[in-house]
Amino acid sequence: MNFIEYFSQHVTKVKVVPKEQSSFMKMLGGFLTLGKKLKLTNIDKQSFMNDYTTTIGHTIYSNDMTEDSDPSSLMTHEICHVLQFKVCGMSTAYLFSPKQRAFYESEAAQASLLCFPGTKTDDAWVERKVKWLMDYGCKETVARREILARLDELKRGEPLARPQVICQILIDWKASN
Ligand SMILES: [Zn+2]
Repeated sequence: MNFIEYFSQHVTKVKVVPKEQSSFMKMLGGFLTLGKKLKLTNIDKQSFMNDYTTTIGHTIYSNDMTEDSDPSSLMTHEICHVLQFKVCGMSTAYLFSPKQRAFYESEAAQASLLCFPGTKTDDAWVERKVKWLMDYGCKETVARREILARLDELKRGEPLARPQVICQILIDWKASN
């Protein structure tokens, strides 16, 4: 059984859909192009379709992985978003509050780090992550604070609950194979 199926069975349903085949994603991309023309967003449809994996509800829209792919940093990051969507009001908070967005993205980054502890989290890594959050419309100070907070929780051995769940299921899945 692949990891997506295993996770779906033990925690909550997750689906992976090729982004390029989703008319819903194409429509969202169209809105982004319009938003870019109106200077409301930074990315247009082409970049959205090619460069980003997008998770909405239980569905991960991606051109970079399928349900059969080996668990990866990207996969665990997106599964964390699936768990976040189960919280009432998350999508509104994510869309309209850059502070909340910084928290949710940094939590997903923590999930990847916890599942793949080999990642080197030096100053250069922190700077890359801060810049990445700024591309999502977050202020530099907020972005840095959230990234450093998630790293600190990891160092103290107190990661957040959702990353812990994903990591535990990954360990169980490996043991079951
Ligand atoms: Zn994300």
